[in-house]
Amino acid sequence: LGSRLFQPEDTIIELPHSIIGGKGHFTMMAGPCSVESEAHLRKMAKVAREGGATILRGGAYKPRTSPYSFQGLGEAGLKYLREAADENGMDVITEVMDEDHVDLIAKYTDVFQIGARNMQNFSLLKAVGKTRVPVALKRGMAGSIDDLLNASEYIAAGGNHQIMLLERGVRTFDNKYTRNTFDLAAVPVLQKLTHYPVIVDPSHAVGVWDLVTPMAHAGVASGASGMIVEIHDDPEHAFSDGPQALKPDTYKKMTKEVFEMRRLM
Ligand code: PEP
Ligand code: MN
Repeated sequence: LGSRLFQPEDTIIELPHSIIGGKGHFTMMAGPCSVESEAHLRKMAKVAREGGATILRGGAYKPRTSPYSFQGLGEAGLKYLREAADENGMDVITEVMDEDHVDLIAKYTDVFQIGARNMQNFSLLKAVGKTRVPVALKRGMAGSIDDLLNASEYIAAGGNHQIMLLERGVRTFDNKYTRNTFDLAAVPVLQKLTHYPVIVDPSHAVGVWDLVTPMAHAGVASGASGMIVEIHDDPEHAFSDGPQALKPDTYKKMTKEVFEMRRLM
């Protein structure tokens, strides 16, 4: 269903405040890794919007490597996301980790994010496939391009064709200086194989804030339809992924450059 042979035209996903995919659109998504509090999220939403993002990100249910790390605010976090996004004329993207949460999260979000750790959680993929909420499917940390495309078929097979694919870096033999290896070639490869929009996530790809801007530039150069980035005003005290968060000024400088680059393409 996702193949260009089946559907030659680009899939375009229209949300109240954003258009994802197709020629001429570049969609910026930004926000903190985790929703931390109502006040903090409101502040970050404003910054995200000022930098040109039309989609607010933030995890209310967090897939943490350690069970002792912050797990997210749950439904309260979803409410804060919805309110902060509405206040700034933005859409919401947030992660769904469990099929039992699909209906609840659908009440608050515009896009379901399926995290790298759940790329092959087939029951979750089938569950979001039964909804008509757009899905952003992240490439697994050891997922091949075909694994990603096959995972997307589980969603499409349920009748939900509003899918976007996210390149967020994969694990390779050398991840000492970066969290992952950003597979930028995956962008044009996926665009050749599938009609779905392809989005890049330079934040999780590199894991270190000062590498995010150069990789954001590279991401837009790769031809991606959009970008998702993590921001925080006080990264040292962030509840998750502080080391890769861009501070507000760095974020706004980056997005200005990215939109300018995109205009020249
Ligand atoms: C995230 O977006 O915060 C996240 C957990 O990403 P990933 O699933 O790519 O690790
Ligand atoms: Mn994160």
